[in-house]
Amino acid sequence: LFVEQVLTLGATLNISGNSAHYLLGVMRLKEGAPVKLFDDVSGEYLATVTRVGKRDLDLTVEAKLRDRETTPDLWIAQALIKKDRFDWIAEKACELGVARFIPVLTARCVVDKVKDDRLRAHMIEAAEQCERTALPQIAPLTKLDALLKNWPADRSLYFCDERGGEPFLDAIGDGPAAILIGPEGGFTDSENAFIRALPYARPVSLGPRILRADTAAISAISIWMAKNGD
Ligand code: SAM
Repeated sequence: LFVEQVLTLGATLNISGNSAHYLLGVMRLKEGAPVKLFDDVSGEYLATVTRVGKRDLDLTVEAKLRDRETTPDLWIAQALIKKDRFDWIAEKACELGVARFIPVLTARCVVDKVKDDRLRAHMIEAAEQCERTALPQIAPLTKLDALLKNWPADRSLYFCDERGGEPFLDAIGDGPAAILIGPEGGFTDSENAFIRALPYARPVSLGPRILRADTAAISAISIWMAKNGD
């Protein structure tokens, strides 16, 4: 279970709201039951239920289980697509271990807003279910040109392009990396030319078929993680 406060041994936390509903209503935890907690700062702890109320409960932190993990250094820059599929990518990107999730606005995006708190809720749920101890960072929605003009020089940008490129598996090198995926309608010709002209961008292919944006995102992350993730 993710908690907002920084965990320390011996601390007692009061849990209410959705988390309490889950622990009491769904898991039916009683006094003395163990619960794993993480705070995205210091790591994962074992806590015990020390009081059960009607709509809340207390957990006392008993032991440290793990330090906060070091996440593989992969970012995903994902053009905004329709809400459900975008949320799905955020959830799966978290499960697969990405460090940073960057919503990107491109010429053909059919959506121009994203709710950070909704994305964060999806990430938290995904992190809890896959037992991550570090949440991905969620970057603010950024326009494609602004993102790429301020790109960190030491981070390879794998530009997933259905029009062709080096097979992604062969292109993957060591070091910090990011994957760029377009929206439902793909990138425009001028965006494509702009990205291809950047010295740190490598156009890569995920195969001969045109994948949906969400399929492309999850495939690319999985391929990179298979080579460099741990
Ligand atoms: N119209 C479909 C949809 O609704 O999702 C397909 C969209 S496809 C143009 C979206 C993005 O997925 C592309 O901009 C590209 O980044 C990535 N993509 C799709 N197929 C790919 C492939 N075979 N190789 C590399 N990238 C691909």
